[in-house]
Amino acid sequence: MVQQRSIVIVGGGTAGWLTAAYLARALGSRATITLLESPGIGIIGVGEGAFPTIRSTLRFIGIDEARFVREAGATFKQGVRFDDWRREAVGDRRHRYLHPFDAPYQADDADLVAHWLAKDPATREPFAEAMTIQNRVADAVRAPKQPSEGDYDGPLAYAYHFDAHRLAALLRARAVELGVRHLQGELTGVETGEQGIACVHTDAHGALTADLYVDCSGFRAELLGRALRVGPRSAKAHLFTDRALACKIAYAGPDAPIESVTTATAHEAGWIWDIGLQNARGLGCVYSSAHLSDARAAEILCGYVGHDRFEARIIPFEPGWRETQWVGNCVAVGLAGGFLEPLESTGIVLIEAAAAMIADFLPMAGPVDASAGRFNQLMNARYAAITNFLKLHYCLSQRQTAFWRDNADAASIPDALAALLAEWRHRPPSRFDFQGGVESFAAFNYQYVLYGMGFETDLGPSTPPRGEQAHAERLFERIRSFGRQAVAELPEHRALIREIGQRM
Ligand code: FAD
Repeated sequence: MVQQRSIVIVGGGTAGWLTAAYLARALGSRATITLLESPGIGIIGVGEGAFPTIRSTLRFIGIDEARFVREAGATFKQGVRFDDWRREAVGDRRHRYLHPFDAPYQADDADLVAHWLAKDPATREPFAEAMTIQNRVADAVRAPKQPSEGDYDGPLAYAYHFDAHRLAALLRARAVELGVRHLQGELTGVETGEQGIACVHTDAHGALTADLYVDCSGFRAELLGRALRVGPRSAKAHLFTDRALACKIAYAGPDAPIESVTTATAHEAGWIWDIGLQNARGLGCVYSSAHLSDARAAEILCGYVGHDRFEARIIPFEPGWRETQWVGNCVAVGLAGGFLEPLESTGIVLIEAAAAMIADFLPMAGPVDASAGRFNQLMNARYAAITNFLKLHYCLSQRQTAFWRDNADAASIPDALAALLAEWRHRPPSRFDFQGGVESFAAFNYQYVLYGMGFETDLGPSTPPRGEQAHAERLFERIRSFGRQAVAELPEHRALIREIGQRM
């Protein structure tokens, strides 16, 4: 007989349904999974951007790309464009850089990063433009792939933007197809015991017991936080934003172009996300309540949109995470485990990582928490690494309001990041700077942000020999010419969405 584990998941947002579908697919008949969600409480309903890891997760779960585009209202995301992060806009003079998802062009016989660094900073092309064709493709509002390309494949790395409610509904449908039992109702109480949770009481389904309880109840953290009293560790010493004012803005018409990058525009005490969804733009003003009032945030958002004829809702959050995320028979995934801030869309990345680790670490025999220590160590390291990466975006800015000055203050920079920045003064980020298994971002992601923000790495006086330089120039020209060709050949973004969305 197959040894089975019973799993109860509390919460039916992206975290709950993604974890349910992932575990159902990974564990098959070795697990029985029940998910309890409260339609009355609802889901947070924000989180409209993902990271390229989502493609392999969706493929694994068994959702094809056409279904995803159609049912989650998805569009393509090729990276994040940062406007005005390096310095304040002065009239029409604005600073802009892209963090594309595609890795820099690789040539075995030339170190293009070193060649780019050796060029005159006053005249060289921006880093992302020099190193990848994706910059040109995104600027031209092109899609990252041809319609004929296979599911989740294409010449360029990409992720998606989507409607958060429709994504949760799609994941729910898939999880139920995979055999997950869906209960609607509210958790009314939790009994604790030696193992952690003894049972959870519900208003409509009596008491539920399981071998493993997964807390996906969002910021309420009903199991790990409220019942087991595991408190969060704040990241506020490093990351200052703690509120978002979110809204939807209609397009000018049904054929209006859809951007294929998230635009992140800096403002006096934070930034604004601008996401091209299929039927509307999703916008959010992210800010630090210690530096900005809600009224001023609303003014900034209205100024960005160009009018005030929209409804916005305030979403408060505390940047941080629970250092112990798996205690006994209870593990938290999603907002119940932690949240740093919306920049770079790391919420779902962390959910994907946690779900995959639970699938691998859940033993079918013996104590259910045998690998809890390892899980906690890996998740902690992952949150700490993401904190460093997010802080990198802020701490190099020359903007002069209190929020940005506080962000550049050395005391607010995590020690590990400060040490890396010191090393990167004389060499670029290397893959050996980052630990396998705990990093969401690779060395090239750091390079895009670092050099996008104008950081200088001084490689010393050793200029490469002329022949090598000429070879590198030919490679840079090849990137330019591939970029022009890609812009000419790739479909317009909205056209690809329409075409894929019509496939059955
Ligand atoms: P929720 O969506 O809040 O779901 C919680 C679930 O628990 C709900 O189903 C609720 O009904 C249920 N529940 C709670 N209490 C009970 C109870 N007592 N009984 C029964 N059920 C209960 N992530 C990204 O990847 N990209 C982004 O661009 C991004 N942007 C963000 C912007 C903001 C402002 C914020 C705050 C977050 C953002 N995130 C983003 C994070 C992302 O929203 C979340 O990681 C994701 O939505 C998962 O949320 P969740 O499922 O953990 O929580």
